[in-house]
Amino acid sequence: MRYGIFSDVHANWEALQAVLSALSKENIDEYLCLGDLVGYGSNPGECVEAVKEVSRITVAGNHDWASIGLFSTAYFNTQAAEAIIWTGQRLDEASREFLGSLELTYANDDLTLVHGSLNEPDMFNYVTDIWEAEWTFNLLHSGVCFIGHLHVPGVFVRHSDNIHYFSWDSFKLSPEKKYIVNVGSVGQPRDGNPEAAYCIYDSQAQQVEIKRVAYDVQAARNKIIEAGLPRILGERLLKGR
Ligand code: ZN
Repeated sequence: MRYGIFSDVHANWEALQAVLSALSKENIDEYLCLGDLVGYGSNPGECVEAVKEVSRITVAGNHDWASIGLFSTAYFNTQAAEAIIWTGQRLDEASREFLGSLELTYANDDLTLVHGSLNEPDMFNYVTDIWEAEWTFNLLHSGVCFIGHLHVPGVFVRHSDNIHYFSWDSFKLSPEKKYIVNVGSVGQPRDGNPEAAYCIYDSQAQQVEIKRVAYDVQAARNKIIEAGLPRILGERLLKGR
Protein backbone atom coordinates (compact mmCIF):
# COMPACT_ATOMS: atom_id res chain seq x y z
CA MET A 1 0.00 0.00 0.00
CA ARG A 2 1.24 3.46 -0.88
CA TYR A 3 -0.10 6.09 1.50
CA GLY A 4 -0.09 9.81 0.76
CA ILE A 5 -0.09 11.51 4.15
CA PHE A 6 -0.45 15.24 4.73
CA SER A 7 -1.27 17.58 7.60
CA ASP A 8 -1.98 21.16 8.65
CA VAL A 9 -3.53 22.45 5.44
CA HIS A 10 -4.79 25.50 7.34
CA ALA A 11 -7.19 26.70 4.67
CA ASN A 12 -4.35 27.32 2.23
CA TRP A 13 -5.94 26.41 -1.10
CA GLU A 14 -2.87 27.08 -3.25
CA ALA A 15 -0.65 24.85 -1.09
CA LEU A 16 -3.25 22.06 -0.92
CA GLN A 17 -3.69 22.05 -4.71
CA ALA A 18 0.08 21.82 -5.20
CA VAL A 19 0.35 18.88 -2.78
CA LEU A 20 -2.62 16.98 -4.23
CA SER A 21 -1.26 17.51 -7.72
CA ALA A 22 2.20 16.23 -6.67
CA LEU A 23 0.65 13.20 -4.92
CA SER A 24 -1.47 12.41 -7.98
CA LYS A 25 1.77 11.42 -9.78
CA GLU A 26 2.92 9.08 -6.98
CA ASN A 27 0.67 6.01 -7.45
CA ILE A 28 -1.02 6.63 -4.11
CA ASP A 29 -3.50 3.97 -2.96
CA GLU A 30 -4.83 5.86 0.04
CA TYR A 31 -4.74 9.47 1.17
CA LEU A 32 -4.61 10.18 4.90
CA CYS A 33 -4.93 13.60 6.53
CA LEU A 34 -3.64 14.44 10.01
CA GLY A 35 -5.95 17.37 10.72
CA ASP A 36 -5.99 21.17 10.93
CA LEU A 37 -7.76 21.56 7.62
CA VAL A 38 -8.77 25.08 8.65
CA GLY A 39 -7.50 28.08 10.63
CA TYR A 40 -5.01 30.80 9.54
CA GLY A 41 -5.83 30.71 5.80
CA SER A 42 -8.54 32.24 3.65
CA ASN A 43 -10.18 29.16 2.06
CA PRO A 44 -11.56 26.95 4.87
CA GLY A 45 -14.68 25.71 3.05
CA GLU A 46 -12.83 24.83 -0.16
CA CYS A 47 -10.09 22.98 1.74
CA VAL A 48 -12.54 20.98 3.86
CA GLU A 49 -14.41 20.00 0.70
CA ALA A 50 -11.23 18.91 -1.11
CA VAL A 51 -9.85 16.90 1.83
CA LYS A 52 -13.23 15.24 2.40
CA GLU A 53 -13.20 14.25 -1.26
CA VAL A 54 -9.69 12.79 -1.44
CA SER A 55 -8.83 11.51 2.03
CA ARG A 56 -9.94 8.07 3.22
CA ILE A 57 -9.12 8.86 6.85
CA THR A 58 -8.82 12.31 8.42
CA VAL A 59 -8.13 12.79 12.12
CA ALA A 60 -9.15 15.95 13.98
CA GLY A 61 -6.79 18.86 14.69
CA ASN A 62 -7.11 21.56 17.36
CA HIS A 63 -8.10 24.22 14.79
CA ASP A 64 -10.78 21.92 13.32
CA TRP A 65 -12.30 21.42 16.74
CA ALA A 66 -11.92 25.03 17.87
CA SER A 67 -13.57 26.44 14.74
CA ILE A 68 -16.76 24.49 15.52
CA GLY A 69 -16.67 25.14 19.26
CA LEU A 70 -15.34 21.75 20.42
CA PHE A 71 -12.04 23.15 21.78
CA SER A 72 -11.47 26.43 23.62
CA THR A 73 -9.87 29.39 21.79
CA ALA A 74 -8.14 30.12 25.14
CA TYR A 75 -5.47 27.60 24.03
CA PHE A 76 -4.48 29.80 21.05
CA ASN A 77 -2.51 33.02 20.60
CA THR A 78 -4.38 36.19 19.61
CA GLN A 79 -3.93 35.89 15.83
CA ALA A 80 -4.78 32.19 15.78
CA ALA A 81 -7.89 32.79 17.90
CA GLU A 82 -8.94 35.64 15.60
CA ALA A 83 -8.59 33.35 12.57
CA ILE A 84 -10.58 30.61 14.32
CA ILE A 85 -13.48 33.00 14.95
CA TRP A 86 -13.27 34.23 11.32
CA THR A 87 -13.30 30.59 10.15
CA GLY A 88 -16.20 29.58 12.40
CA GLN A 89 -18.34 32.34 10.87
CA ARG A 90 -17.68 31.07 7.34
CA LEU A 91 -18.02 27.27 7.55
CA ASP A 92 -21.27 25.89 6.15
CA GLU A 93 -23.31 23.15 7.79
CA ALA A 94 -21.75 20.34 5.71
CA SER A 95 -18.20 21.42 6.62
CA ARG A 96 -19.09 21.77 10.30
CA GLU A 97 -20.64 18.33 10.29
CA PHE A 98 -17.57 16.81 8.63
CA LEU A 99 -15.12 18.46 11.07
CA GLY A 100 -17.32 17.40 14.00
CA SER A 101 -17.35 13.79 12.79
CA LEU A 102 -13.54 13.35 12.78
CA GLU A 103 -11.97 10.85 15.18
CA LEU A 104 -8.88 11.81 17.19
CA THR A 105 -6.80 8.75 16.31
CA TYR A 106 -6.74 6.01 13.71
CA ALA A 107 -4.76 2.77 13.51
CA ASN A 108 -4.45 -0.17 11.12
CA ASP A 109 -1.77 -2.91 10.79
CA ASP A 110 0.58 -0.53 8.95
CA LEU A 111 0.32 2.71 10.88
CA THR A 112 -1.22 4.96 13.53
CA LEU A 113 -2.38 8.54 12.99
CA VAL A 114 -2.88 11.40 15.46
CA HIS A 115 -2.67 15.19 15.09
CA GLY A 116 -0.70 15.86 18.30
CA SER A 117 0.20 13.01 20.65
CA LEU A 118 -1.32 9.63 21.53
CA ASN A 119 -1.49 10.55 25.21
CA GLU A 120 -4.50 12.85 25.67
CA PRO A 121 -5.15 13.20 21.93
CA ASP A 122 -8.00 15.60 22.77
CA MET A 123 -5.49 18.00 24.39
CA PHE A 124 -3.37 18.26 21.21
CA ASN A 125 0.01 18.13 22.95
CA TYR A 126 3.14 18.92 20.92
CA VAL A 127 5.73 16.18 20.45
CA THR A 128 8.84 18.35 20.44
CA ASP A 129 11.38 16.33 22.44
CA ILE A 130 12.26 12.75 23.35
CA TRP A 131 10.38 12.95 26.67
CA GLU A 132 7.13 13.85 24.96
CA ALA A 133 7.85 11.31 22.23
CA GLU A 134 8.14 8.61 24.88
CA TRP A 135 4.49 9.08 25.93
CA THR A 136 3.37 8.39 22.39
CA PHE A 137 5.82 5.48 21.90
CA ASN A 138 4.42 3.85 25.05
CA LEU A 139 0.92 3.91 23.54
CA LEU A 140 1.96 2.93 20.01
CA HIS A 141 1.03 -0.58 18.81
CA SER A 142 2.03 -0.28 15.15
CA GLY A 143 5.61 0.28 13.97
CA VAL A 144 5.04 3.88 12.95
CA CYS A 145 2.89 6.80 14.05
CA PHE A 146 2.36 9.77 11.75
CA ILE A 147 1.73 13.13 13.40
CA GLY A 148 1.41 16.82 12.49
CA HIS A 149 0.64 19.87 14.65
CA LEU A 150 4.19 21.27 14.94
CA HIS A 151 4.54 22.19 11.24
CA VAL A 152 8.16 20.97 11.29
CA PRO A 153 8.99 17.65 9.61
CA GLY A 154 11.13 15.22 11.61
CA VAL A 155 11.43 11.68 12.93
CA PHE A 156 11.70 10.19 16.43
CA VAL A 157 13.16 6.68 16.48
CA ARG A 158 12.93 4.30 19.42
CA HIS A 159 15.35 1.38 19.57
CA SER A 160 15.08 -0.71 22.76
CA ASP A 161 14.99 2.04 25.41
CA ASN A 162 16.70 4.80 23.44
CA ILE A 163 14.91 7.56 21.60
CA HIS A 164 16.65 9.79 19.05
CA TYR A 165 15.50 12.60 16.78
CA PHE A 166 16.46 12.99 13.11
CA SER A 167 15.49 15.43 10.37
CA TRP A 168 15.54 12.72 7.68
CA ASP A 169 13.50 13.21 4.54
CA SER A 170 13.84 9.64 3.25
CA PHE A 171 14.39 6.47 5.26
CA LYS A 172 13.47 2.80 5.61
CA LEU A 173 11.62 1.46 8.64
CA SER A 174 13.40 -1.28 10.51
CA PRO A 175 11.19 -3.94 12.19
CA GLU A 176 13.07 -3.79 15.51
CA LYS A 177 12.51 -0.03 15.85
CA LYS A 178 9.48 2.21 16.30
CA TYR A 179 8.96 5.59 14.64
CA ILE A 180 7.05 8.82 15.13
CA VAL A 181 7.07 10.77 11.89
CA ASN A 182 6.05 14.42 11.80
CA VAL A 183 5.01 15.02 8.20
CA GLY A 184 5.27 18.83 8.42
CA SER A 185 2.62 21.23 7.15
CA VAL A 186 0.95 21.76 3.79
CA GLY A 187 -0.36 25.25 4.41
CA GLN A 188 1.95 26.90 6.97
CA PRO A 189 5.44 25.33 7.19
CA ARG A 190 7.54 26.60 10.13
CA ASP A 191 10.94 25.05 9.43
CA GLY A 192 12.20 27.98 7.37
CA ASN A 193 11.23 26.38 4.07
CA PRO A 194 8.07 27.96 2.61
CA GLU A 195 7.39 24.98 0.31
CA ALA A 196 4.40 22.77 1.19
CA ALA A 197 5.30 19.48 2.91
CA TYR A 198 3.77 16.03 2.45
CA CYS A 199 4.72 12.41 3.09
CA ILE A 200 4.64 9.14 1.20
CA TYR A 201 4.70 5.84 3.08
CA ASP A 202 5.12 2.66 1.08
CA SER A 203 4.18 -0.10 3.53
CA GLN A 204 5.48 -2.88 1.30
CA ALA A 205 8.92 -1.33 0.78
CA GLN A 206 8.77 0.09 4.35
CA GLN A 207 9.98 3.36 2.88
CA VAL A 208 9.01 6.81 4.20
CA GLU A 209 9.65 10.01 2.26
CA ILE A 210 8.97 13.62 3.23
CA LYS A 211 8.72 15.79 0.14
CA ARG A 212 8.29 19.50 -0.56
CA VAL A 213 6.55 21.28 -3.38
CA ALA A 214 6.59 24.96 -4.33
CA TYR A 215 3.27 26.78 -4.65
CA ASP A 216 2.04 30.32 -5.19
CA VAL A 217 2.90 31.57 -1.69
CA GLN A 218 2.37 35.20 -2.72
CA ALA A 219 -1.22 34.52 -3.79
CA ALA A 220 -2.01 32.73 -0.53
CA ARG A 221 -0.44 35.61 1.43
CA ASN A 222 -2.40 38.26 -0.50
CA LYS A 223 -5.72 36.45 -0.01
CA ILE A 224 -5.18 36.27 3.77
CA ILE A 225 -4.58 40.02 3.95
CA GLU A 226 -7.48 40.84 1.59
CA ALA A 227 -9.79 38.67 3.71
CA GLY A 228 -9.05 40.88 6.72
CA LEU A 229 -7.24 38.13 8.62
CA PRO A 230 -4.20 39.17 10.72
CA ARG A 231 -1.49 40.37 8.32
CA ILE A 232 1.22 38.32 10.06
CA LEU A 233 -0.56 35.10 9.02
CA GLY A 234 0.08 36.07 5.41
CA GLU A 235 3.61 37.36 5.86
CA ARG A 236 4.86 34.26 7.71
CA LEU A 237 4.06 32.06 4.68
CA LEU A 238 6.77 33.85 2.68
CA LYS A 239 9.41 32.86 5.24
CA GLY A 240 8.06 29.46 6.18
CA ARG A 241 8.06 30.50 9.85
ZN1 ZN B 1 -1.60 23.29 12.70
